[in-house]
Amino acid sequence: AADRQLVRIVIVGHVDHGKSTLIGRLLHETGGIPAAKIEHLKAISARRGMPFEWSFLLDSLQAERDQGITIDTSQIRFRTPSRDIILIDAPGHAEFLRNMITGASQADAALLLIDAAEGVRDQTRRHGYLLHLLGVRQVTVVVNKMDRVDYDEAVFRAIESEITAYLAGLGVQASAVIPISAREGDGVAERGTRTPWFTGPTVLEALDQFEPARAPQELALRMPVQAVYKFDDRRIVAGRIETGNLAVGQEIVFQPSGKVAVVKTIETWPVPPAGQELTALQAGNAAALTLDREIFVERGEILSVPSARPRATRRIRVRLFWLAEEALEVGTTLIARLATSESRATVAAVHEVVDPGHLSTFESKRIGRNQVGEVELLLSRPIAADPHRLNPRTGRIALELGGRIAGGGLVISVLDGEAAQP
Ligand code: GDP
Repeated sequence: AADRQLVRIVIVGHVDHGKSTLIGRLLHETGGIPAAKIEHLKAISARRGMPFEWSFLLDSLQAERDQGITIDTSQIRFRTPSRDIILIDAPGHAEFLRNMITGASQADAALLLIDAAEGVRDQTRRHGYLLHLLGVRQVTVVVNKMDRVDYDEAVFRAIESEITAYLAGLGVQASAVIPISAREGDGVAERGTRTPWFTGPTVLEALDQFEPARAPQELALRMPVQAVYKFDDRRIVAGRIETGNLAVGQEIVFQPSGKVAVVKTIETWPVPPAGQELTALQAGNAAALTLDREIFVERGEILSVPSARPRATRRIRVRLFWLAEEALEVGTTLIARLATSESRATVAAVHEVVDPGHLSTFESKRIGRNQVGEVELLLSRPIAADPHRLNPRTGRIALELGGRIAGGGLVISVLDGEAAQP
């Protein structure tokens, strides 16, 4: 179909529970790997007197990548009947957390893998917690290595109820729990013949049902102002439309100033012939606008529509990943950057600290290097912000300490109300 949708899926699970095997299998079953390559690897295994491992496939792709030949194995692409999938392998969860929270990678959904013979382990729970922390709400649980337990339904049901109860406690609902054998191929692309008692989807079907993140143009209009230029007698407001759509004639509002205007023209260069001027633009495009009235607005403000504006605030709650040597604590002063705004920020409270090595929460007033925590920031002046769950582009913040990036995070809530309207 022309409207194939892209879904980014992270795969997590206890080491050795079969992530690489499942990924190799999925690549193979979806035609991502030439049959000749598999035959070649099987021949190598046979020559060495070793059983063929699907994870060899990933290793061999990794080797090719090291030589600059093929794909990045931490981001594997394949297609299901209606989706383009990017499977993100999470090598270490600290690294993954950092990437997710600072915006380097974003997952729309997750596969959580459990070895049927090992059951739910501490690491499995930590990974569940990680998904909760990152706000990944679509999770499919895969119970792998069913061959090791003779495809016993009772074993599967026990794991299923334990993991769904755990996830539910975190507010994460498993969209499916699927018994498979990645090695044998049962339940991956084809219904497992040895699990006739299971009526749910295959892994591929489950992947096909994940919803992609909402496209940026479907979200409310957000254009952070990059610069305001003045020439002739006109003012031009320039920025990039991060989300939503903008049209000539539309009423807009700038936050935090609350100033209102109507879009008069969308300027392009070279100047188009009369009648061919641009009248609308959508997310992803740079825009230079003139307005119907002279108002004073600044870099850092966010342009939106009056009925769906970001809130102006001086207090936000942020879930951040901290990278700097010095611990973050109450009173630490930083520079906060959200979209094009810049402001001094002081830590007013530290609410929760998580050690990503163990993903355990502990009471602390300090967030150390490589830890995750929730803090309340007090800003030196109002900025416009959205909670991350409403808009990832204007709900993400970068923090600097001593001129260097020291952390980054998601805006969990905007604590002040609307700024007073001028
Ligand atoms: P990872 O560490 O999670 O990537 O795990 P691997 O994919 O490397 O698998 C770890 C071990 O489990 C390997 O020896 C695999 O052959 C084995 N394994 C993976 N899937 C299955 C399966 O479905 N059944 C059985 N019996 N072994 C499996």
